[in-house]
Amino acid sequence: MAQVSPHHDSPHLDGNSLAGPLSDLFAVDVTQAWWRCPGCGSTGPLAELHVYGPEPGLTARCAHCSQVALRLVRHEEHTWLTLGGAEGAFRFRTAR
Ligand SMILES: [Zn+2]
Repeated sequence: MAQVSPHHDSPHLDGNSLAGPLSDLFAVDVTQAWWRCPGCGSTGPLAELHVYGPEPGLTARCAHCSQVALRLVRHEEHTWLTLGGAEGAFRFRTAR
């Protein structure tokens, strides 16, 4: 259902509208996902990223320029995911 945000005049949907599109994305073999580096412009499958860790979490970087592609931190209850070098993160319940 469209609602009006107090911060914007444009109507929007709530986050539940992402359930379908995101479940399509996260149900695939993520190593086959294609990644494009915002730092150097190189492209390739996720499997070609250089991954550092495991503590305090996994950090995947561009193999060419070391730009951060994603960070993944797993705790007992939750898994935090940050895409790119941006601030902010998504928290998921850790799969058991
Ligand atoms: Zn790069």
